[in-house]
Amino acid sequence: MGGARGGYLHRRLLRLQVGYLLAEGPGNSKEVPICLPQRVHVVSDLFLESLAGKLILTRTKEGILIQGTLRVSHARECDRCLDAFQHEFDLSIAELFASPPDANKSVFSVDSNGEIDLAPLLREEVLIEESYRTICRADCRGLSAATGINLNYEEEEALVAAGSQWDDRAAIDPRLAVLKELLK
Ligand SMILES: [Zn+2]
Repeated sequence: MGGARGGYLHRRLLRLQVGYLLAEGPGNSKEVPICLPQRVHVVSDLFLESLAGKLILTRTKEGILIQGTLRVSHARECDRCLDAFQHEFDLSIAELFASPPDANKSVFSVDSNGEIDLAPLLREEVLIEESYRTICRADCRGLSAATGINLNYEEEEALVAAGSQWDDRAAIDPRLAVLKELLK
């Protein structure tokens, strides 16, 4: 500890030993819970705040098939208002780790120690998930084109600013408009 960044879990935790499953015949499977409740270093440019779910590992003739859903939390910047937020989403995973390695069957493979590394797969899946516009909330108001302020925080000022461009009468409650007419 002591660094400004704080502690994080080592990416070693994203490696799964599957040698025992390879030794069993095709058709055998194993359920593997994934529970990383803290910040984890996935690859050089990617940290995830948490990772949780369940993976089913199935021995096939080609290697180990991994299927399941992982709940991911990723600290990032909103594409609309630029605020930092926790992007939480589910990743559906269905990927073959070939054994022996075979580029024609999968870019992923079981290594010579009988291990699979989830990190490159996670990186790819997170990049795909976040290649679309990712916003902090469905109704994020973004930044004011005029002032650059974050409209999520500056709601009242924004309304006042918008109101000043309107016709005065349009901004008045219709019931009050009737009174105004009477006063003339
Ligand atoms: Zn936002």
